Formats: sequence, structure tokens, C-alpha cells
Amino acid sequence: MAAKIIDGRALASAQLDKLKTEVADFISKNGVVPSVTILRVGADEGSVTYARQIRRTFERAGATASELELPADVKADQVLVEVRRLNANSSVHGIMLQAPLPAGLPWRVIADAIEPPKDVDGVTATNLGLLAAGDSRAMAPATPAGGMALLRLIGVEAAGSLATVVGRSTVVGLPLALMLIRAHSTVTVCHTRTPDLAAAGRSADILCVAAGRANLVRANMVKPGATVLDFGVNFVDGKLTGDVAFDEVVEVAGQITPVPGGTGPMTNVCLLENTLKAARLALGG
Ligand code: NAP
Repeated sequence: MAAKIIDGRALASAQLDKLKTEVADFISKNGVVPSVTILRVGADEGSVTYARQIRRTFERAGATASELELPADVKADQVLVEVRRLNANSSVHGIMLQAPLPAGLPWRVIADAIEPPKDVDGVTATNLGLLAAGDSRAMAPATPAGGMALLRLIGVEAAGSLATVVGRSTVVGLPLALMLIRAHSTVTVCHTRTPDLAAAGRSADILCVAAGRANLVRANMVKPGATVLDFGVNFVDGKLTGDVAFDEVVEVAGQITPVPGGTGPMTNVCLLENTLKAARLALGG
């Protein structure tokens, strides 16, 4: 029997409606609109599209997302000046640094210049450390936080499960693995040196894929009935596709996110959730 398709758009939309009420409450109590600034260096097409989607999500909830685009040939020092300026601006509650940065700009240095309480996409080493420590002050990266929200909303119990995460980047795979561990899952993390990816995949009740390789995960890598979350964003012949060979895996899995319309929409909602948290922190509550 074919897997149930997880409707990420509908689930995100319902969450957004809830957040809209929280945003309205925050504004009426404080007279302040939660706001994020999206910092982009260069005009990478995917990043521009993503920023537009974030703006729409924030507008729908009554919050503000603005964009600051710096030229692709900007020097690292100038980017740092802008980050510090945003850190010091009390009307900016959250700063989201868009990846990828042009070659030659040091991601870690620039990301770590963001004040951790304003780091609404959880890119600083401080927030990654707080996440690892299970500290409630952590700002969790929006993409893996969205994955965890999806699991919760569809009623998949992480506690006691076996999970496999394909990918170990500090923005998706690694923090997702940390969050699953915190949720009492037993987690295998795979990467390009993993000797038997198929076996690791087949062992998982929850299979999360964030490798950025179209069709990496095939039907023989999936346990029958597993929950499969596909975070991949790839363009094949101009068509957006995930990391999972959807047409064959859908016949094996129990439930699966499509691409598009799976994990992506919840990412923006989690970014808004973190921005509201940052705004509350900024006002001392
Ligand atoms: P990344 O920094 O390139 O990391 C990719 C990870 O996948 C690395 O750990 C890499 O292993 C591993 N990997 C690559 N090829 C593999 C293979 N053949 N077998 C096993 N592991 C492999 O990418 P990222 O930033 O984490 O993003 C991953 C994907 O998620 C991309 O498609 C990206 O566009 C997408 N994404 C989606 C969202 C969303 O909202 N849905 C948000 C952000 C990113 P090594 O460490 O050994 O190199």
C-alpha cells in the first residue's frame, strides 16, 4: 500500500494561524511588531525566492520580514559591520543570515557575529551548543525545528524510535540529530563516508534526508512503514525535487513528505516562532 503523503503546506498553514494569534497578542501588549532582517550577500536565485516566501509567511501572521542585500563582492569586514549594526538595532528582533555566502566569505565568522538571542535561524556556535545541552535558551535552526514539528503534528513518536539522519551539516543534519536525541530517539547520522547507507536507512523508523543529492534515497534503503522526511532541495531539468526517489519510496514508506510542499513550509513557520521568541526576549519576557 502506498504511503500517506504528509501535507506540509496544510500543517504549516494551521500552525501559522495559531502563531498569528500569538503575534497579535504580542503586538497589543507591547505595541511592537516582531521583526526579522534577512541578510543576503549576492543575489543567489534560490535565496531570493526563499526570502520572498519568508516575507509572505511573516506578513500573513502580522509580523515583519525585511531584506538587506549586500553586493556579492563585499568584503567580510563590511558584512561584519552590517551584522553589528543589526545587533545594535532594537527594532530588529531577529537576524537571518542566508546561505550560501559567496566563496571567500567566512561563514562561521560571520554567523558567530550575530548576537545569539537574535540568531533566529540557530546558526551561531553558541546556539548549536545550547541545543546540544538541551538548554531552553537555544534558538533551534528553523529547518530541523520544522521537521520535529511535523513529526509531532502527524503523531509520530520520536521517543523509543530508531532514526537515521542523512547529512551532518550544522544547519540541518547535525541539529536535527541533536533534537531527535533530545526527544529520546536513538539516532544514526550518515554522511559521505558512511559505509552502508542503505543498511542505515533500512534500520530507521524515522528517516530524515538532508544531503542535497537528488534521488539519493531509493526504495531499498527504506524500512517498510517508516516515516520519511525529505529536506532536499534540488533542481533536475528545471524541476524542484528532493533527495528521496519519491515515486518508488512512496510504495515502501508509511508516510512521506513530498517536495515541494513537505518540509519547506514548516521551516518558515519555525523562523517566525523563533522571531517571536527573540522579540519576547528583547522585551525582557
Ligand atoms: P550541505 O551543507 O551540503 O550538507 C550535506 C550533507 O549531506 C553533508 O553532511 C554530506 O556529507 C551529506 N551527503 C552528501 N552527499 C551524500 C551521500 N551521497 N551520501 C551520504 N551523505 C551525503 O547541505 P545542507 O545545507 O545541510 O542542506 C541539505 C539539503 O537540504 C540541501 O538540498 C538544501 O537545499 C536543503 N535545505 C532544505 C531546507 C528546507 O527548508 N527544506 C532548508 C535548508 C536546506 P559530508 O559531511 O561527508 O560532506
